[in-house]
This record gives sequence, C-alpha cells and structure tokens, in this order.
Amino acid sequence: MIPARTAQPKIPDLQPSLPWQMQWRDAIRDPHELLALLGLESLATRVSAQAMQQFALRVPRAFAVRMQAGNRNDPLLRQVLPIDDEERIVPGFALDAVGDAAAKAADGLIHKYQGRALLIATGSCAINCRYCFRRHFPYARETAAKNGWRDVLAAIAADDSIEEVLLSGGDPLSLGTQKLADLTAQLAAIPHIKRLRIHSRLPVVLPARIDAALLKWLDALPWPVAFVIHANHANEFDDAVDFALGQLRASGALLLNQTVLLKGVNDTIDALAALSERSFAAGVLPYYLHQLDRVQGAAHFEVSDARALELHAQLAARLSGYLVPRLVREVAGDSGKRPLTASA
Ligand SMILES: *Cc1c(COP(=O)(O)O)cnc(C)c1O
Ligand code: SF4
Repeated sequence: MIPARTAQPKIPDLQPSLPWQMQWRDAIRDPHELLALLGLESLATRVSAQAMQQFALRVPRAFAVRMQAGNRNDPLLRQVLPIDDEERIVPGFALDAVGDAAAKAADGLIHKYQGRALLIATGSCAINCRYCFRRHFPYARETAAKNGWRDVLAAIAADDSIEEVLLSGGDPLSLGTQKLADLTAQLAAIPHIKRLRIHSRLPVVLPARIDAALLKWLDALPWPVAFVIHANHANEFDDAVDFALGQLRASGALLLNQTVLLKGVNDTIDALAALSERSFAAGVLPYYLHQLDRVQGAAHFEVSDARALELHAQLAARLSGYLVPRLVREVAGDSGKRPLTASA
C-alpha cells in the first residue's frame, strides 16, 4: 500500500481560519501562480490557453496546499490544470455527455430514477475539475433557485412518489446557508419527502464551508440526511478535511463518497485502496466508483472498461466488502446507474 501522504514539502496554508466566502473569492485562477507555488514552472508549456478559455482554472488554496511540490504528476494538480490534452477532439466525447433533457420535471429538477428527484440548486462550484460536464456549461442555464424555488417545489409537491430529494449542482453548498434554509423550510411542508441527500465536493475542496451556521442548519433538518462527498484521491484528505467531516458526522448525517475513475489520478489498485481506507478513517463509506462521463476535452482521463473491471476485482479481493464502491456508469435513459459488468 502507498502511504496516503508523503513527506514532500507543501504550500503553507496561511488562511485556514478565514471565512469560507473569503477563501472562495481568493481561489487561485492563474495557472502560473499555481505552478510557481509548486516549483513546477517547467509545466507551463503544457498549459493550454484554449482549455483555459473554455473552462477557467479555479482552485481554492485550501485544496492546493495538499498538492506535492515538485511532483509533475500530482494527482490533485492533474484534476485542475488546463493542459493541451484537452484540445484533442475524440469521437464519442460530446458537449452534453449525460443527456438529462428528457428527464426534466421542471427547470432545475431531474426526475429520472424511481423515488428520487435531483435538484440543480446552483451552477457554481468552488473548484473547476477538468473532467466535469460543467466545463461546457460553467454557468448553468437552468437552476432550481429561480423565482424562490417555486417551480421545483410545485413539481415535487405534485408527485408523491418522490421520497428523496437530492441537492446537487454545480455544488449546492455554493449557496449561502440562508438560501439553503429557505429551500428546506419549504421542502419540509411536503409530507411525502422522507430523506434528503446532499452531493457536495466542498467538505473536501473548501472545508471551511462546514461552518457553525451550516451545521446548525443540518442539525435542524427534519429528515435523515445522506451526505455524499466527492473525493478522488487519498491525498485530498488532510486535517482540515477530517475536522469538517467529523463535524458533519456529529450532525448525524451518513457520509458517503463518490469517485470518478481517472487515468493518471486514481487508476491503480494502490490509489483506489488507499482512497477507500483514507475515506473510512475520516468516517466516510465508499459508495460509487464512476466511469467518466464522456465530455469533450476529458478523453485523456478515460480508463477502459476492461481496466476498470480489473481494478474493481482487485479492490474487492483486497478490502473489506464495505470498503468497495460500486463500479457504475451513467447511461442516458436508464432507470438507475448502470453497474459495469464484463458484458456491458
Ligand atoms: C445519480 C442520480 C441519482 C441518484 O442515484 P443513486 O443511485 O440513488 O445514487 C438520482 N437522480 C439522478 C438524475 C441521478 O443522476
Ligand atoms: S460539479 Fe463536481 S466535478 Fe464538476 S466542477 Fe463542480 S466539484 Fe468539480
């Protein structure tokens, strides 16, 4: 097993206690600043202006401090640095990879799976991940927040098969806590809702977001809450992340992790095993390991299905059953995530 951290020098974290809104605004946006901080100026020749223009670099400093100085192949850096590989046009990699249009129940509400409706609370994120579908729609055209959530609330209220509401995005915790509280206060008036799920990468990329106000809001929610963090590598965890996750757990939320299988980031058995073990140490159970959505500009991250299955089998042989995420792919029109199997 590889150690979760190595002894490489890091960028000093000078602002761990600043309010999250200030840290949000202070994110690194200049690739040359990031590369200089890491002592990797030589990588500047790989930075792509075209990729930057399509989807800007954006990295909270709290995330950048976990990158290893001097490591050209740092798995966290690879997730955020706009490089020339993104310019390649590869057949099958499209602008709209997931194709949710047919499942739209209202602007900002996707009701595709039995019992669950996904609410696009906002199009914003604290970080820009290069493999994300957001690269083609950085400012989501349709979010549920418009006109005080009225359309999505009406659609959810009108369908009593919806027992679980998923707050997604973008990143729903990009919204201020008061906005979230306004939404959940209105959801609480709908009797058939039994569970709330929150999908957010913020506990990992900007752990200061898990502040006292957010925890107070979570504590007061009338439903059991599942909180799905999105971590792709063991190095994404540090003391600040552990602390934020500990606070979330103390609120009573069930913590799960969803990971995207990414070439050059986590496509080895050691990296995946370390991620599961590190997540569990932070109180988070592995949930899904996703095959990449085939978005244009992300082809260099793709891992073949055969390799994904092989890695998954090795993981199952090595780890306790509850540390093995389900290997899935999202397929337009399916009624759930599709498990990857040898024949699929
Ligand atoms: C992924 C997803 C869900 C949740 O699926 P689970 O298998 O329950 O995690 C719900 N709705 C949509 C539209 C989704 O893409
Ligand atoms: S939606 Fe998730 S993967 Fe996409 S940019 Fe935001 S945090 Fe990254």
